[in-house]
Amino acid sequence: MTTDGCTGLLRPGKEHGPRLFTRGKPIPHVASSHMQIASKLPRTGTTIFTAMSKLAQECGAINLSQGFPDFPVDPQLAALIGGAMQAGHNQYAPMPGLPALRDAIASKALRLYGFRYDPAEEVTVTAGATQAIFTAVAAVVHPGDEVVIVDPAYDCYAPAVELFGGKPVHVRLGGNMKFDAAAIQRAITPRTRMVMINTPHNPAGTVLHEGDMQALAAMLEGTDILLLSDEVYEHLVYDGERHASAINHPALRQRAFVVFSFGKVFHATGWKVGYVLAPQYLMAEFRKVHQYNVFSVNTPVQHALAQYMDVPAHYKSLPAFFQAKHDRFAQGLGGSRFKLLPCEGSYFQLADYSAISDEGDLAFAQRLTREHGVAAIPLSPFFHDPPGGQHLLRFCFAKQDATLDAAIDKLCRI
Ligand code: PMP
Ligand code: GLN
Repeated sequence: MTTDGCTGLLRPGKEHGPRLFTRGKPIPHVASSHMQIASKLPRTGTTIFTAMSKLAQECGAINLSQGFPDFPVDPQLAALIGGAMQAGHNQYAPMPGLPALRDAIASKALRLYGFRYDPAEEVTVTAGATQAIFTAVAAVVHPGDEVVIVDPAYDCYAPAVELFGGKPVHVRLGGNMKFDAAAIQRAITPRTRMVMINTPHNPAGTVLHEGDMQALAAMLEGTDILLLSDEVYEHLVYDGERHASAINHPALRQRAFVVFSFGKVFHATGWKVGYVLAPQYLMAEFRKVHQYNVFSVNTPVQHALAQYMDVPAHYKSLPAFFQAKHDRFAQGLGGSRFKLLPCEGSYFQLADYSAISDEGDLAFAQRLTREHGVAAIPLSPFFHDPPGGQHLLRFCFAKQDATLDAAIDKLCRI
């Protein structure tokens, strides 16, 4: 995907968004003047997040596209990192993560989800959730294995599967973007190696409920199918809902990599630190790969996090903090022509713009950025095969109130 500046067009070129142009012609070879290599991801280019954030910057638009907060991390946490560096914690951390941090993670999981992972064998600190997902797939997906992915899906899932010779099998969320266990059941074959789920869901903003988890547990019971449960928005659940974690279900956690991100919990997406929880037999395979694709993760940040995780329940304040932003944005857009879909979790709000335009979502998202000064993410890049006639944008509301108000003002004028 390339842009020609604010006045120009976002256009698919030899770089293009991963799911957006899947119906386009793949580019099987990458050529230079003297050699040609076969691309391992022929349909993939620069992500829609990068493209829209770049366009927002070029246009000076309010950026509600790529998901990141525009407010600061707690100064106490930042100071702890500085302190760790000053104290000389600047060399390689242990391969699976700092023991104190793994202990704190195991205690948190026990507190919240009632199961104690062994910090020595079943907790690994990763360079963000992205690396956790990539490494888990690398560790267990063999050429020809099928991996069930629920569309719209976060963008890094399918490329990871393809890179290791697996075959993504795409199913869809059901009506109102709700989880559809029956669709997953229909997609399962003797070749299914893994099912990937995400709750709260990016980009849909819906969550899996206990009944969905039970249906999934019943479906996978007695099979060799693994689960990857992406729970990076575990604390961002609204209207009194509780996060339904795979950890709560023995039949799920015994076959699951459960993935988390400190970027979401501490408003620090740029630190790229997260973790994965898995039973020992899976984690042993995970670590074989982890030790060669990152070996270990940022030491001073791990020291700071280990101390900060004991600060009384920072994360307990998160649901109310983000609920207020969710409500502010939704109420503000009540005065617009956008129609909002239900948002049960995550920091994303889907909005239907059919009443404003029948343009395709990429074209509309660009025009919104260029002409109206607000950047959002079109939904079609999250689909292998985007549904026709869909007019949806994703807005990130993890922003200061002033940013949200300024965006609401612009969006209500359209
Ligand atoms: N999964 C989902 C659903 C996400 O939204 C994100 C990032 N926003 C990630 C994984 C990756 O997280 P990280 O930045 O920690 O790699
Ligand atoms: N997870 C962020 C989002 O959904 C983007 C992260 C990225 O740019 N890779 O917007």
